[in-house]
Amino acid sequence: MQERHFSFEFFPPKTPEGAEKLRVTRSQLATLQPKFISVTFGAGGTTQQGTLDAVLEIQREGTEAAPHLSCVGSSRDSIRQILKTYREAGIRHIVALRGDLPSGMGEIGEFRFANELVEFIRAETGDWFHIEVAAYPEYHPQSRSPRHDMENFARKVKAGADSAITQYFYNADAYFRFVDDVRRLGVEIPIVPGIMPITNYSQLMRFSDMCGAEVPRWVAKRLESFGDDRESIRAFGLDVVTSLCERLLASDVPGLHFYTLNAAGPTKSLWQRLGL
Ligand code: FAD
Repeated sequence: MQERHFSFEFFPPKTPEGAEKLRVTRSQLATLQPKFISVTFGAGGTTQQGTLDAVLEIQREGTEAAPHLSCVGSSRDSIRQILKTYREAGIRHIVALRGDLPSGMGEIGEFRFANELVEFIRAETGDWFHIEVAAYPEYHPQSRSPRHDMENFARKVKAGADSAITQYFYNADAYFRFVDDVRRLGVEIPIVPGIMPITNYSQLMRFSDMCGAEVPRWVAKRLESFGDDRESIRAFGLDVVTSLCERLLASDVPGLHFYTLNAAGPTKSLWQRLGL
């Protein structure tokens, strides 16, 4: 079996207090020696400096850093400039996305879909970057059909992606089926499951509604029944996500990517339960 890689995701902090909290989180998670840490990027460039600052700090601390880069609302020149900055900083890993513009915020820009961004990065920078793209085992919420979504995924892989990270999911069968189906479309790259710890019922339901991830009814019902009892939510959430990861790790997944939400505790607990 191939070597498995584990990675973490952060978002760029908005305040000096947030930046300090993230430093503490990073130092707690660094001991787990992830393969890389990725940092999200607000569509339309809203977190451009924050993403760059976080990524540079991570690099300085000796961990491989992978900035996300979303292209919606951006011009070719602005993306070229960001790529140049990353290259000059020695960054060689990037997560290429379309992104979602907040409503009322500007024009679509010069890129429509992530495959165009991947193509552009390859054309501009050759093999400099390891390019990750997003995958949706339960399908992207705007997709015309599952088949169309998987064909679009295959298109961005053919444009030059090296690996993919999935949207989070709680149904392992959706992931297994997605991987089998896109393999039949000629996709050979590693597709790493994205793992979202469960710590907050209303936040989870809100996120899941927006991004098209399904929270199984029995999980939602149990979480709802705990009300404000955060300890029970955490304990039950940890059980559910541990079982999911165990099932994934029992198959030949290439690794796991943890959506940390800038907190060390939930990811660390999962890590320990999984004996990683
Ligand atoms: P695409 O691959 O372009 O797909 C978007 C939609 O268009 C899909 O419905 C697809 O079927 C369709 N489509 C794709 N290509 C074509 C085509 N050529 N013709 C017609 N239809 C097409 N968002 C951020 O803003 N910042 C982040 O940092 C960020 N990080 C993320 C990390 C991961 C791992 C994931 C899974 C998502 C992340 N997102 C982030 C969210 C992401 O930007 C949204 O889900 C967005 O709506 C789609 O981005 P994408 O790159 O998957 O788009």
